[in-house]
Amino acid sequence: MVVLYTMVTYNEDQIFRCGVCHEKIRPDETISQDITHFRLICSTCNSIFTEEELELVIDIFLSHGGYFGKKKNKSSSFDLLDTIVELGSKLNLYEMKISLLHKALLYGVTPKEHIKQLELLVI
Ligand SMILES: [Zn+2]
Repeated sequence: MVVLYTMVTYNEDQIFRCGVCHEKIRPDETISQDITHFRLICSTCNSIFTEEELELVIDIFLSHGGYFGKKKNKSSSFDLLDTIVELGSKLNLYEMKISLLHKALLYGVTPKEHIKQLELLVI
């Protein structure tokens, strides 16, 4: 993935949203663009995710829907064990890994945090 860093310039009536978290992009914000998917990435997502993570995260949201932190402010939180139990009998291992990461991302859990949760589960 090639990332271009640029400034957003647009009229007052135009609103651009981040392709990962769907937050409004401020006119003075330095952003990047995912050339593979032509999505603008806000400065916050640029600081949270590595380039490889951004590519993976965008692919997951394109195929499974939603956006980063979509369910973050809901009353429930992401529970790794409950999600594994819920998905366990329906999916093979590869599908399970992608679905777990997708659900974690919806709750605003970053890939790094998700990996730590998985490591703690194994210990
Ligand atoms: Zn963002």
